[in-house]
Amino acid sequence: MLDEWSRRGRTLDEHGKQLLKTLKKQEFSTQQLAGSDLIQLQDVSKTYRRGPHEVAALRGLTFELPSASFAFVLGPSGSGKSTLLQLLGALDEPTSGEITIAGERLSGMSASQRNTYRREQVGFVFQSFNLLSNLSAVDNVLVPFLPSGVSATLRSRAMELLKVVGLGGRLDHRPNQLSGGEQQRVAIARALLKRPKLVLADEPTGELDSQTGADVYRLLRDLRDQQQATVIVVTHDPTFIQPDDQILRLRDGRLAE
Ligand code: ADP
Ligand code: MG
Repeated sequence: MLDEWSRRGRTLDEHGKQLLKTLKKQEFSTQQLAGSDLIQLQDVSKTYRRGPHEVAALRGLTFELPSASFAFVLGPSGSGKSTLLQLLGALDEPTSGEITIAGERLSGMSASQRNTYRREQVGFVFQSFNLLSNLSAVDNVLVPFLPSGVSATLRSRAMELLKVVGLGGRLDHRPNQLSGGEQQRVAIARALLKRPKLVLADEPTGELDSQTGADVYRLLRDLRDQQQATVIVVTHDPTFIQPDDQILRLRDGRLAE
């Protein structure tokens, strides 16, 4: 029995490695976006109104990010970092100014175009993992695709991604059977399954030990390198910043020099 388990363990491992190779060779050869700037912001402001109170979260942001950027958004608490990610992901709209993604103005899109953009182009890795408690890890990864149907190929890719994030042995576990860090990795696998053009991550490693944090950054950088995705990470922790990364420093809703 023991032998059989270790044999199976080995086979799964080999199988996993093989699939990972295939993933790297074939699946990341998606078409590149036309144009060099994926993201352009022109004088973008966001003011929240709560009754008589107004909070100016972003004040006239203008910047461009080339395709396949790895960018960090830094700044003190309350400086507008999460607001910026929400606008970029079309989860909310600016009060004024224009956001253009791959040549398309977000404000010019219909509601259904914005839905498609969010669903197909953007991978969200936010602090609240938003996992569904009654679903297994693999089904949680597949959630975004449930409305349109899940093929066997897609399901096996979801399983591969869970293996890549080190959860190959936890495919059937529900969120309450996983630690915070493991739940975060399920959320990352879910964000990567759609092969997003844009990954928006808000403190993705805040809950993780340093080894797992490093694994998460490796995954995000692979996605950028192999698939030319643009990755934007909000963080307080500069450990994983590399020399070629773009840095956006926010202070009081403005870009700081
Ligand atoms: P950060 O992520 O850098 O901590 P946020 O973008 O979350 O900053 O917030 C920027 C400012 O906008 C803060 O003053 C915050 O209190 C305010 N804010 C954020 N979301 C809302 C909201 N939904 N309603 C009202 N004020 C908000
Ligand atoms: Mg925030």
